[in-house]
Amino acid sequence: MDSPLDWAALAAGLHPDGRAFIGGRRVGAADGGVFDCISPIDGRKVGEIARGRAADIEAAVSGARAAFEDGRWAWRPPRERKQTLQRLADLMRANGDELAALETLDMGKPVAMSRAVDVNAAANCIRWYAEAIDKVYDEIAPTPRTALALITREPMGVVGAIVPWNYPMLMSCWKIAPALASGNSMVLKPSEKASLTALRLAELALEAGIPEDVFNVVPGYGHEAGQALALHKEVDCIGFTGSTRTGRAIMQYAGQSNLKRVHAELGGKSPFIVLADADLDAAARTCAGSIFFNQGESCNAPSRAIVERSVLAAFSERVAALAQNYQPGDPWAKGTAMGAIVDRTQLNTVLGYIAAGVDDGARLAAGGTQALEQSGGFYVTPTVFTGVTPEMKIAREEIFGPVLSVLAADGAAHAVAIANASRYGLAASIWSRDIDRALTVARALRAGTVHVNSYDDDDITVPFGGYKESGNGRDKSLHAFEKYTELKTTWIRLPGGVAG
Ligand code: NAD
Repeated sequence: MDSPLDWAALAAGLHPDGRAFIGGRRVGAADGGVFDCISPIDGRKVGEIARGRAADIEAAVSGARAAFEDGRWAWRPPRERKQTLQRLADLMRANGDELAALETLDMGKPVAMSRAVDVNAAANCIRWYAEAIDKVYDEIAPTPRTALALITREPMGVVGAIVPWNYPMLMSCWKIAPALASGNSMVLKPSEKASLTALRLAELALEAGIPEDVFNVVPGYGHEAGQALALHKEVDCIGFTGSTRTGRAIMQYAGQSNLKRVHAELGGKSPFIVLADADLDAAARTCAGSIFFNQGESCNAPSRAIVERSVLAAFSERVAALAQNYQPGDPWAKGTAMGAIVDRTQLNTVLGYIAAGVDDGARLAAGGTQALEQSGGFYVTPTVFTGVTPEMKIAREEIFGPVLSVLAADGAAHAVAIANASRYGLAASIWSRDIDRALTVARALRAGTVHVNSYDDDDITVPFGGYKESGNGRDKSLHAFEKYTELKTTWIRLPGGVAG
């Protein structure tokens, strides 16, 4: 699948099935409702998605509950759950071209990224948790001799997962893999802006041997299907990834219903601190590569470069020049570095922030315009603002587009103060050749992930999540099992001496 034509032809031959997946089969919404699936590549309708609502969530949750109670999946030995999930990972790889094409068609990222990054990372995630589940041991507490206290982890029951559109398949797998590996049943609600890969995953899961009703996918809008799932009393826990605003609402639904656990992975406005002694070329290259990756639609994108004043001009020039390498292009074409913004609403949001930056007096050093309008799709040029001050809107709010704000700092302490003066705390980066200084800054940064002289390091073995209003949970790594399991203590009375 090397030539652009091959991908475009593959995509043209796809007839995405937008029906829900409940009880092991494809079904339309109970009331027959649908909404259009529009590709951001060219604004064309590519299909219809079932508009799931409370009745569809009810069907999926009651099936998932029954499946959990009869133990058809939860009671399978870990080794068997492992083998089934390994088959799912294999099927994802075998169907990788189709999954990549669906992802790109649905949300606009370059297909080369969908194939190399999203499909591989998602399949790897499923395989990693599959392999982990028969290697995790429980505990025995150091109690007196008169008793034995077993501390065991049990599946929660029915897990609801609600995910965003920026990495639709990968975010789904960050929830599905630990939740299914540990024996839960699930109902996944993908974003209304990108539902196709999640629905296809459900078919592959059934083919891999995950029993009917154990893994269901109900597409629909947040205020309909999403709200119904988060309010449902038979749902024991919600694994949520999305905006801070929605995360707040979901916690309220939990409070209004059954106090279900809510694990929230939310937004960010991540700082990228560059001190005067940094390797400026490497810093600028990494900053541009990370802010423009995935059209800037990454929760952890380094959207605030906070640069020591003596190197401010040199860094800004470099990063603005590098922005030219990320001009948006045809997502099917080989070599395209940046694709389409997910939909017209998000395009307008990004353009609105760019206008606010100009109004507030920031200087456009690169980009700032809509692009490829003749395509019918939604594209923005890679944008760099200099002269940004901390109180400006573009320095405070998450834009979720290819827009970098460059701010000045007078020394490391000032840079840390600016970095931490945010309601978010997802990721951060510090650049300095002085490792003592860099590590001191790293300790002072209030963020779930801090990179030192890097940004894009990533591995399934490390936890990912935020401080403050960036969330309260951690995806990835063995820590994710904590989200989808209950801790149980079982006391066993012993006689204390050797009887007889
Ligand atoms: P969003 O909050 O608008 O939507 C996320 C999901 O929540 C969607 O499935 C949506 O339908 C659903 N939803 C919306 N309103 C709801 C409601 N009232 N009740 C229940 N569900 C509802 O976010 P988005 O625009 O899809 O995604 C972008 C956001 O996700 C950004 O803020 C980004 O930073 C964040 N994100 C965070 C991480 C992370 O790991 N921390 C990863 C990716 C994206």
